[in-house]
Amino acid sequence: MSREVRAILDMFEIVFLGTGGSIPTEGRNHPAIAIRFQGVVLLFDAGEDVQRQYMRAGLGLNRPMAIFVSHIHADHVIGLPGLLLRMSLLGRQRPLEIFGPKELIEYVRMTRDSIGLGTTFETTVYAVDEGRLWGHNGLSVRAFPVKHRGLALGFEVTYQRPRGKFHPERAEALGVPRGPLWHNLAMGKAVEIDGRRIEPHEVSDPPPSPLKIVYTGDTRPCESLLEAATGAEVLISEAMYASDKVDLAQERGHMTAREAAELAAEADVKLLVLTHYSPRYDLERGATILNEARELFSNTILAHDLMRIEVTWQGARVVASRQYS
Ligand SMILES: [Zn+2]
Ligand SMILES: [Zn+2]
Repeated sequence: MSREVRAILDMFEIVFLGTGGSIPTEGRNHPAIAIRFQGVVLLFDAGEDVQRQYMRAGLGLNRPMAIFVSHIHADHVIGLPGLLLRMSLLGRQRPLEIFGPKELIEYVRMTRDSIGLGTTFETTVYAVDEGRLWGHNGLSVRAFPVKHRGLALGFEVTYQRPRGKFHPERAEALGVPRGPLWHNLAMGKAVEIDGRRIEPHEVSDPPPSPLKIVYTGDTRPCESLLEAATGAEVLISEAMYASDKVDLAQERGHMTAREAAELAAEADVKLLVLTHYSPRYDLERGATILNEARELFSNTILAHDLMRIEVTWQGARVVASRQYS
C-alpha cells in the first residue's frame, strides 16, 4: 500500500454540523459534530435540525455509525428524534448504537412510536458515564466525566495504527527479496528466508502514538478534561463566553474562550477549535472570543457550521469553511 493511500485511509474528517451555544442563530445550528474515519461516522451531540445539516454535509444515512450524547440538555439532544425519523423514513438498514447519560434511554423510548423506530433498523441505547464505549479496527471512543450541570460527558476519539512504518532498505539489508515477503513483513507477519526467521519489528518502526481528537461537551475546565486532552491533535472545546462573562460561565457550568485556551496550552494540543459560543458573539463573527483565546494559544480557530477539518499524523487543516452571514 502506498504512503499516500495509507494517509488517506488514516485520515479523520471533522464536520461541524452545528456550532451554536444554547440558542441557534440564523447562521449556526445547535451543537452537533460528525467525525468520519474510514467510512464510519461518529456523531457527537444532536441539536436541533441536525438531520438537515447531516444531509447538507453529505454524510450518508446508511453508514456504519454511532451516536454519542454529551448530556441531556435540550440543545444537545433535541435533534435526535428528527435524525432517527429521517433514517427510518429513508430505510436505513444498518443497526445503530447510541451512547449517553441514562435519561437518554427514556428520551428515545418516548419518541420511538412516533418515529417508527425499529421498522427498518435496530437501535440500541446505552446508559454510560465513563470509560471506553465503542471500538472498531483501532478506532475507539472513550467518555470521561466533565463539570457541567448534572451528568455531562466529554469524549476522546483515538485511532491506533496497528503497525509502524515499513523500511524496505532494512528488509533488503537482511536479504529479503522485494515482493510478497516484503508485503508480509509490512503487514506485521514474520517471514523465513534461507531458514532464518525475520520478525516485523526488525524492518518496521514501532506503531506511532495514537491520533487523538477530544470534544469537551459543555463544561467548566476540569482535571479529567485536561488529562484527556493532553497530547491531542485537536481539542474541540466549548467557549460559551468571553472573559468578561466569567461569572456567568461559572454559574452555568461553561468555559470562557480564555479558559479553553489556557487548558489547550497546558494540555499541549496541536489545534484548538472553539465551538458552542453564545449568539451574542455573532454580531462581530466571534472575533472577541477568538482574539481572546489566541492571546494565550495562537493555534486556535473558530468553528462555523459545515466547517470541515482533516486530521492526520501530519497535522490538522481546515479544508472547507463557510463564514456565516
Ligand atoms: Zn449546550
Ligand atoms: Zn448544557
